[in-house]
Amino acid sequence: MHEWTLLSAARKVREKEISSRELTRAILDRIERHNPRINAYVTVLTEKAMKDALACDEALQKGRTLGPLHGVPVGLKDIFCTRGIRTTCGSRILHNFIPPYDATVTGKVLSSGAVLLGKQNMDEFAMGSSTETSHFGPARNPWALDRIPGGSSGGTAAAVAAGLCFAGVGTDTGGSIRQPASVCGVVGLKPTYGRVSRYGMIAFASSLDQGGPITRSVPDAAMILSVIAGHDRRDSTSVDLPVPDYLAATRESVKGLKVGLPREYFEGEGLDPGVRAAVEKTLAVLTSQGAQALEISLPHTRYALSAYYIIAPAEASSNLARYDGVRYGHRARCEGGLIEMMSRTRAEGFGAEVKRRVMIGTYALSAGYYEAYYGKAQKVRTLIRRDFEEAFSKVDVILTPTSPTPAFRIGERTGDPLTMYLSDIFTIPCNLAGIPGISVPCGMSREGLPIGAQLLGKHFREEDLFMAAAAIEREIPLPRVAPMGEA
Ligand code: GLN
Repeated sequence: MHEWTLLSAARKVREKEISSRELTRAILDRIERHNPRINAYVTVLTEKAMKDALACDEALQKGRTLGPLHGVPVGLKDIFCTRGIRTTCGSRILHNFIPPYDATVTGKVLSSGAVLLGKQNMDEFAMGSSTETSHFGPARNPWALDRIPGGSSGGTAAAVAAGLCFAGVGTDTGGSIRQPASVCGVVGLKPTYGRVSRYGMIAFASSLDQGGPITRSVPDAAMILSVIAGHDRRDSTSVDLPVPDYLAATRESVKGLKVGLPREYFEGEGLDPGVRAAVEKTLAVLTSQGAQALEISLPHTRYALSAYYIIAPAEASSNLARYDGVRYGHRARCEGGLIEMMSRTRAEGFGAEVKRRVMIGTYALSAGYYEAYYGKAQKVRTLIRRDFEEAFSKVDVILTPTSPTPAFRIGERTGDPLTMYLSDIFTIPCNLAGIPGISVPCGMSREGLPIGAQLLGKHFREEDLFMAAAAIEREIPLPRVAPMGEA
């Protein structure tokens, strides 16, 4: 049953073909068996999940369902605050933090009836592309255990790919939903900035962060987005627009859809030939169903990474100033005064990548450098947004690879931050422009590793992405649960 899609699991529970307890038990058993190797979860809520499943079954006996995910076990990246449940953000500085409130995403997932299995592993404060910066050790790719599951939402993507939950919610600041989805062979969507509330989602770079679904099918992602999307008065950047019927969009035809291919995304050196071939095949799938391909240009793409690595660390250095050991989280033991306590707390509590970002960000924001770095990066950001506006005056969606390569080996890039940063070269421009993007599995490499195609859309047009991704998924059937060396 771990191979069922989220939608079919939900239907089977609703139609009483299976109880939520049986379903939850089965997935918890798999977690118990596989999580020690995959390390997808940092917290597993065995007893609580079984109690919640029982409550779902009892409600159903009385003819009541909470919502569309009634009784279905799911997971959350450990960046979403969960009331009474430890929320670490992958960091030592929050290793003992128990939030007194739920994030809006958490609340919406729970009130849709889903059963929460646990909190999923991630790069520390979502800074990374491999889940190797986690304080809790790296998660592993279920397709090849010596490889990374991507990041920063690597625990969530690995759990979904390994059948250790029916769906998860991750976050994406520069690619952290799409890149792990791509290298784990699952579906991941970053919504338009403002589509999903950031309330209670631990902040990395506030002008870029968005929460979104990681699932084994496109309709499942559409279902999760309809659950978590919508205006929230507790997040002033969440947008007050009606939430469309995303599920209906997955059934629409791509006939007449204009698909743009950005020249700049295909001409760089770092693109793996197998990835290129798979994305070309994906285009053929769309055109064979009546979509029309057009070459476009996004000329400022080459500055995206540089702008991102000023803006994201600048915002992070400000957001992370609150971890001072005073109000919550880890506090260093020390005899000295307040300043010494705070600096020791931060020295012990943060890992190397987080410290690197705080230093870069603080530097970029300091008096005298602000205009030269942060101000300049913001101007580049505007140019990148305009590139997309120009492109979307000609096309409906843009097709690119998600990640330049399939999953790399654990340890391969940890010594070289710049190579690691290049993992997100195709995903970062989308965050800078605030537009939505989805990664959908589109093939396997020669070594048997999943490859993902990325579709980018206009602001608040997630429907277009679901429509095109579903068309791809119907034509390129791939195994959705990783074998993990088992029959
Ligand atoms: N890998 C990118 C970074 O390290 C993006 C991370 C993310 O999207 N959270 O910043």
